[in-house]
Amino acid sequence: MSMDVIPKDLRSVRACLVCSLIKSFEQFEYDGCDNCDEFLRMKNNRDNVYDCTSSNFDGMIAVMSPEDSWVCKWQRINRFCKGVYAISVAGRLPNSVVREMKSRGIVYRPRDMSQR
Ligand SMILES: [Zn+2]
Repeated sequence: MSMDVIPKDLRSVRACLVCSLIKSFEQFEYDGCDNCDEFLRMKNNRDNVYDCTSSNFDGMIAVMSPEDSWVCKWQRINRFCKGVYAISVAGRLPNSVVREMKSRGIVYRPRDMSQR
């Protein structure tokens, strides 16, 4: 498992608004999101990291084999990479990004469970 996906420190961690992957701000800026960077383009783009991740999240799940885990199925992260994921992420993705995802045939489901 690549160590680069695990949050390096807990001071500046943020969670992706699309897939709920948790990493430090620097990791998102350096590598982008391991699942969503194709359309979120956070790599080397601090503005997009601020827009598409949130520091306000609840719960953490460490995922070793997402495809075999019922928890991951429940969280709809069973097709994502190994790593640490949040259970609920507060915040909203900018409309322009939601539109971009739609044009790629991806449905955006907000990760904020506190509002349900
Ligand atoms: Zn993501």
